[in-house]
Amino acid sequence: MKVLVPVKRVIDPNVRPRVKADGSGVDLANIKMAMNPFCEIAVEEAVKMKEKGLATGEIVLVSIGPAQAQETLRVGLAMGADRGILVQTDVAVEPLAVAKILKAIVDAEKPDVVITGKQAIDDDSNQTGQMLAALLDWPQGTFASGVAKDGDKLSVTREVDGGLQTVSIQLPAVVTTDLRLNEPRFASLPNIMKAKKKPIDTKTPADYGVDVTPRLTIVKVAEPKKREAGEKVADVDALIAKLKSAGAI
Ligand code: AMP
Repeated sequence: MKVLVPVKRVIDPNVRPRVKADGSGVDLANIKMAMNPFCEIAVEEAVKMKEKGLATGEIVLVSIGPAQAQETLRVGLAMGADRGILVQTDVAVEPLAVAKILKAIVDAEKPDVVITGKQAIDDDSNQTGQMLAALLDWPQGTFASGVAKDGDKLSVTREVDGGLQTVSIQLPAVVTTDLRLNEPRFASLPNIMKAKKKPIDTKTPADYGVDVTPRLTIVKVAEPKKREAGEKVADVDALIAKLKSAGAI
């Protein structure tokens, strides 16, 4: 089984994002970037599949983004992936165009499974994996909290509102990762050194015939409203009285 894992470079989740003064977007100047956490989970799952002997083929990473997305690919290579493809562009590529580029790469690379994150934490779109499955006409197991191989099928446990749902999907397939699928490893120093020698191909969206011109217009980006300070009450009766007077109950 060959695995393709798309990984996105996003703002480091531990950094507090700043909105640009003109409200046109998030200020990315001098901000620490990292691999999208759900993509780390996807890489970890692919590496685990390889370690368990379920994935015997290559693990190929793809990142669509600026030249620095190469660093994101190196992180995944240090975790255990075999090679990377950087589709270099300075445009903020929207999910449909990402899915179209990934489709072209899938057609060329012929993986048995594509594991994407369930969402990128910068745009929170939660669209790419689903759109890719539609473009490929492949089955999809989204929000996976468990993945097991079952002959030429995958058994995917999904986190749904009411609990856990298990679906069986025929390979080739697309899986999107949820938070509880695994705990991504930290790359060891020797593996970071080894990753420097692993191959990364550089391409452009035009190489795949995909127009990445944005279709959406961002009207405004604003900071979330500041939370107002809470108030301590003496007991339950006082709390109920307060809630009643505020019309909350
Ligand atoms: P989204 O649909 O934007 O929330 O992203 C969901 C998943 O699609 C991410 O976790 C990645 O696996 C993949 N993805 C989205 N954008 C990119 C990108 N620019 N490069 C590589 N993978 C991406």
